[in-house]
Amino acid sequence: MNRRFLSVLLLLVFLFVMLASFPAAADNSRAKEYPERAVARMYVKYKCGCTRIGNGTMVGRRGLITAGHLLICPSHSRWADTIQFKFGIKNSRDCLYTYTGGYQLYVFDTFKKKDGTIRYSNENNIGYVIFDKNVGDKTGWYGIYAPSAYDLTGEWYHWLGYKNWDLYSDYGFLNANDSSNVFTFSSYQSAYFQGAGIYNWDEGNSGPTLVGVYINDSGSTCYGRKVTSDVIREMRKNGAFD
Ligand SMILES: [Zn+2]
Repeated sequence: MNRRFLSVLLLLVFLFVMLASFPAAADNSRAKEYPERAVARMYVKYKCGCTRIGNGTMVGRRGLITAGHLLICPSHSRWADTIQFKFGIKNSRDCLYTYTGGYQLYVFDTFKKKDGTIRYSNENNIGYVIFDKNVGDKTGWYGIYAPSAYDLTGEWYHWLGYKNWDLYSDYGFLNANDSSNVFTFSSYQSAYFQGAGIYNWDEGNSGPTLVGVYINDSGSTCYGRKVTSDVIREMRKNGAFD
């Protein structure tokens, strides 16, 4: 083996190892376009002082859906104190829209116990934000649908989320059954995707349809919480789709 061949071979092995350890690249090129621009990067500061970065998705002019644990600190049961919502991010200095108005936060009763502490489980880890101002006309929004396990099985689903300022996407098949509101799937690093919408492109719809939210992962298994009819009913009652 001559030396040049060996160095080319080593270079190829190096490149392969590099690619294998980074399964996806950030791509902010479409961040200001629909539907990417309907995804918010949420910088959350809870009343306990903890902070977290996650995602939420617009599903109406005033309604954004996300994971419950982004609205209440899972370690200390304290609500978010302030949340910065940024949409359509090109980089840390350039985004389409930063929301500056008021908002109301909601998690489901099953998530928050009467004594104020939370019952933290994947089954009830879903929440939403109602903005005082019309956000959807600037960002666009996704359709929302309460799926059966049958709807969730056998189709590709997608998710988008920010890590720091970079937008990542991934897709795959879901594993669901009707006895649980939680479905499982594989993805890389859920740190990018907490609170992100799980969606597909339903035939007959002009845009994406959101059917669940990305919660977290445990090793190689990721967990999502289905949109259920009570979620849609409550969001409608509180003005998400006005
Ligand atoms: Zn905390």
